[in-house]
Amino acid sequence: MAAKILVVEDEAPVRDMICFALSKADYDCFGAKDAEDARRKVAETPPDLILMDWMLPEVSGIELTRELKGSELTREIPVIMLTARGEEDDKVRGLECGVEDYVTKPFSPRELMARIKVILRRVAPDVTEDIIQVGKLVLNPASHRVEYAGQEITLGPTEFKLLHFFMTHQERVYSRSRLLDRVWGTNVYIEERTVDVHIRRLRMAMEPFTIDNMIQTVRGAGYRFSG
Ligand code: CA
Repeated sequence: MAAKILVVEDEAPVRDMICFALSKADYDCFGAKDAEDARRKVAETPPDLILMDWMLPEVSGIELTRELKGSELTREIPVIMLTARGEEDDKVRGLECGVEDYVTKPFSPRELMARIKVILRRVAPDVTEDIIQVGKLVLNPASHRVEYAGQEITLGPTEFKLLHFFMTHQERVYSRSRLLDRVWGTNVYIEERTVDVHIRRLRMAMEPFTIDNMIQTVRGAGYRFSG
């Protein structure tokens, strides 16, 4: 699961350079040339992170960020602002509108990658390859293995993704539609009851270890993972 990163930048050579560096680092990168293009792309394929240029034609990066952060659907997408100006004022304004981080141009691809990694680790640990451990339950995204107390739990690909999401988003209730968005992606049309099918399979795989109760049904609301 490569993290999807949207680069909002009107200057094509800069956008291409960033996308090239991101693709080399195994990110799934796509670009937008202005606010309108960005809005459309965010709606089509919600990114895991947005790199937002401050200077955009018509609607500025800061205005667009404010708009995204003000909407229920997009407020959780982290934004790293790119700016040519290193002024403290801008930084304060950026942080005030909810930007997660700030990178001043010119930056090295390496610096940018490091910032992206930190943010993704914080807000979307399910798209990183970090090993996740909850008590004796250990999930390794790189090797696609799950173990409980050293014993392997065999999971199908969807159950694996689901468990990965849950383990990185503990103690929060997710509705079926939210799980579909976050685990299956918003571009696929799947009925909500499919979620129940995969939850059932996941619980069955966890049952021999008596840890199936980690996945809790919250009546009328959805599901919650509790370690
Ligand atoms: Ca620009």
